[in-house]
Amino acid sequence: MVAFIPHLNCTQESANLIRHIDENVRLTEMQADAARRAANLKYLKKANRAKRCAHMKSNGQSCGSPAVRGQPYCHFHAQARGATAELPVIEDQRSLQLALTKLASQVAAKKIDAEQARILLRILESAGRNFPNSGNEALARKFPGI
Ligand SMILES: [Zn+2]
Repeated sequence: MVAFIPHLNCTQESANLIRHIDENVRLTEMQADAARRAANLKYLKKANRAKRCAHMKSNGQSCGSPAVRGQPYCHFHAQARGATAELPVIEDQRSLQLALTKLASQVAAKKIDAEQARILLRILESAGRNFPNSGNEALARKFPGI
């Protein structure tokens, strides 16, 4: 900040004054930059103390990213793990029905998105066509007319 502008007697004095003003402007900008960097360093130190993601990579190393507050994983791995639908092995009509029920509850709980649910539903429908309706057929043979 320039407090006052003295009476200048020659162009050299004027050039010196302009140079000093420019230096003051640069100094003020550098002070602001230093303050911003100091604040960032404080945030980095705080981030480094944060709990780390519990995900272990296939090479045995841990993820290393900060975990989301209150969760064991970082944002990426929390989403990646949440995106995995939990479905049973499809081996008969009952497990298919269980898978459909679990799929519905995961959609309702917003654990998986609608597009993933549509794909899984098509897979489950395909799996259902691949094995005979053995449970119902055996029941129908035992109790005809049901
Ligand atoms: Zn992670």
